[in-house]
Amino acid sequence: MPTDPALADELVATVRRWVAKEVIPNASAFEHADEFPEAMVAQMRDFGLFGATIPEEYGGLDLDVLTYARLVEELAYGWMSLSGVLNTHTIVANLIKRFGTDEQRAQWLPDMATGEVRGAFSLSEPDAGSDAQALACKATPDGDEYVVNGTKMWVTNGERAKVVALVAKAPEGITCFIIGKEPGPRFEGISVSRRIDKLGYKGLETVEMAYDGHRIGADTVLGGADNLGKGMHQVLSSLELGRINIAARAVGVARAAFDAALAYAQQRETFGVPIAKHQAIQFKLADMATKLQASKLLVQSAAEKFEAGGRADVEAGMAKLFCSESALEIATECMRIHGGMGYTAELPVERYYRDAPLMIIGEGTNEIQRVVIARGLLRRAEAGEPVL
Ligand SMILES: Cc1cc2nc3c(=O)[nH]c(=O)nc-3n(C[C@H](O)[C@H](O)[C@H](O)COP(=O)(O)OP(=O)(O)OC[C@H]3O[C@@H](n4cnc5c(N)ncnc54)[C@H](O)[C@@H]3O)c2cc1C
Repeated sequence: MPTDPALADELVATVRRWVAKEVIPNASAFEHADEFPEAMVAQMRDFGLFGATIPEEYGGLDLDVLTYARLVEELAYGWMSLSGVLNTHTIVANLIKRFGTDEQRAQWLPDMATGEVRGAFSLSEPDAGSDAQALACKATPDGDEYVVNGTKMWVTNGERAKVVALVAKAPEGITCFIIGKEPGPRFEGISVSRRIDKLGYKGLETVEMAYDGHRIGADTVLGGADNLGKGMHQVLSSLELGRINIAARAVGVARAAFDAALAYAQQRETFGVPIAKHQAIQFKLADMATKLQASKLLVQSAAEKFEAGGRADVEAGMAKLFCSESALEIATECMRIHGGMGYTAELPVERYYRDAPLMIIGEGTNEIQRVVIARGLLRRAEAGEPVL
């Protein structure tokens, strides 16, 4: 159901004010120290953001995806990493909401809605990224349990998460398991085998996790035994929501970079005039603003399609592709407009430049988005449906 527009506007305005007051002045210090922003995440919990898309009956805000995307944009405007704390959590909550059994929903969603339990999404492996079908992590049945062995790579929020959507190979095929754990580097047969140091997207952990004989109950199969072997189908539909998050956060970073560039261009003078008076700079600003505006509209279109139900693979893929490429270009142009100052750690401009490339990779690289978009277009054309 669409969120009441007045409520949506109020929430977005509240988060925007908080980002201006608490996030923007502090983000660079946390980022440069690669420190997890506990207090900011606590405030996100107080706003109810971890329950943004969780139904009210489980204590969530039950917002529509467009409102969720607007909130993600606001967080990323201040610091992209905050939108990352929310993304895997929301993907997992969406998997449970959409495919979980009644017991799984009742077990996980109320604590996920408050943010007491935060989620990590674990699909990728050292040798299975774009080619997710190649994954090797195994879940072997043993009586009423499964024994998990294998290595999962790039688990964002993996160390702090209390619930993980783990995609592994069962005898019936690729299956999604919803497993509980305690935060920390080690829990029963799960351990953090590597903390990955990154170019940007700092302050939140992205880790490699080793499963060594970790035992889980048969009741952890997402949606129950009938869904053994259906993990890839479940995961792909939830990745559409993840791609909308990436597109929305790209808009947030791009908007921050554009605003910084516009302000600097009006204030910095060369040859006796503000650099905004030079046509070369004006053309940059015009291109940046055009890409930013087009990005916003693509996020809106993807969110509306997702909300309507059915597949939104084409729209989410287009939004993710265009918004992330645009954010990368806008962050680069922002740096050029700032001249030497853009290259210093004194301004957040260098952070936008380091954060933006993640979005061309995460939730499926942009090469893979083109494959997804083209397949979706052809599927619609073959079915005689409107392609766009
Ligand atoms: C910071 C960060 C956080 C992440 N967080 C998570 C997470 O929380 N959970 C999770 O499961 N994963 C996560 N990922 C993993 C991410 O989804 C993968 O990195 C991504 O899907 C690409 O996989 P890969 O790195 O193995 O690259 P590869 O698949 O090895 O690709 C290498 C290159 O080849 C290209 N390529 C591959 N196949 C094709 C093809 N068929 N056609 C054309 N080009 C192709 C790719 O586009 C890329 O340019 C994260 C990654 C990063 C960097």
